[in-house]
Amino acid sequence: MKANIVLLPGDGIGPEVVGAARDVLARVAALWGHTFTFSSCLIGGCAIDATGKPLPEDTLAACRESDAVLLGAVGGPKWDDPRAPVRPEQGLLGIRKALGLYANLRPVRIFPQLAAASPLRPEIVAGVDLLVVRELTGGLYFGDRQEETGGRAFDTMVYTAAEVERVVRLAARFARLRRGRLTSVDKANVLASSRLWRRVAMEVVARDFPDVTLEHILVDAAAMFLIRRPAQFDVIVTENMFGDILTDEASMIAGSLGMLPSASLGDRGPGLFEPIHGSAPDIAGRGVANPLATILSAALLLRYSLALNVEAEAVESAVAAALDRGLRTGDIASPGCEPVGTRAMTAQVLDLLAPAPTAARAAGVAS
Ligand code: NAD
Repeated sequence: MKANIVLLPGDGIGPEVVGAARDVLARVAALWGHTFTFSSCLIGGCAIDATGKPLPEDTLAACRESDAVLLGAVGGPKWDDPRAPVRPEQGLLGIRKALGLYANLRPVRIFPQLAAASPLRPEIVAGVDLLVVRELTGGLYFGDRQEETGGRAFDTMVYTAAEVERVVRLAARFARLRRGRLTSVDKANVLASSRLWRRVAMEVVARDFPDVTLEHILVDAAAMFLIRRPAQFDVIVTENMFGDILTDEASMIAGSLGMLPSASLGDRGPGLFEPIHGSAPDIAGRGVANPLATILSAALLLRYSLALNVEAEAVESAVAAALDRGLRTGDIASPGCEPVGTRAMTAQVLDLLAPAPTAARAAGVAS
């Protein structure tokens, strides 16, 4: 197949980890006979420096015309003044809105090889394989607000039934493809917008997904259950701010930000794929960043935007096999283990990438 992929390396370690994922995608194209065309555009702090804007028009135009977008991270101390009128993260919010990416997917899976990196006990994290679907373009972050005047300020949480329906529908489709369990998280005992959320979720699932089991949990209880029994979740769907907080909590179950990918999807047009970590300015330019979250984001790109499931699984198996060979970057290395850099980890993944049966599967490695 032919695909036009836009790379948005961004700031800090972004160029290092996107470069690694690009090499993996290029190897996938060579091994499976696809033609991937890559173009690189500016976003975030580097775009502000070059053009004065965090999301230049030609970046947005290139993304709109692409089949998929792979992003590194934006931001850093140079642009960190919260009062500055132009900020790197405006580029991120802008591109999500412009591409209509209303659902953010964060899979959290424990690689058995890294169970020791989790702050939770091994018996609690064993078997964790959950997917959080966060509504991304509505709710508190986009409602009317008033900055502080005379000691008073407010924000508004607004949802329409249509906004709730489309994200619940998307989450239910994923639940159907997985273990058939959907947990809708809200605060329906207090918030009117949550009562709407719960009613619409019940109607959509009862009408169109009778094979999916739906449960409702209040957000405070969900925060507890994610720590107490994370392996019991399959797909979680929730509104923007609850999702923002719960996805960060869920990411800690896996032990390192450097392992977790994400996908942002809309109903049409390209998806946006990025690691959940930031630009890590403390390690930028040193060649030590963990590239696996971005490589796993490239696997999601193959699966969700290009429908290349076999290739996506091959990338995930190669990552598991690299871990199985004992390779660890600094963020996931246990005491006494000599960490490798970004390039060595990427080279190992490239080495293990092969059409099915993959090297990993042939060796009986669980992914
Ligand atoms: P961060 O995720 O950049 O870093 C947190 C810690 O995790 C740091 O110690 C860092 O070295 C480490 N880390 C992160 N990714 C790693 C990787 N791949 N390999 C090894 N270690 C890794 O979060 P932060 O320090 O709070 O933010 C730094 C900058 O990134 C800020 O400007 C922030 O606004 C921005 N940020 C951007 C995004 C994004 O682009 N989506 C997300 C979060 C933060």
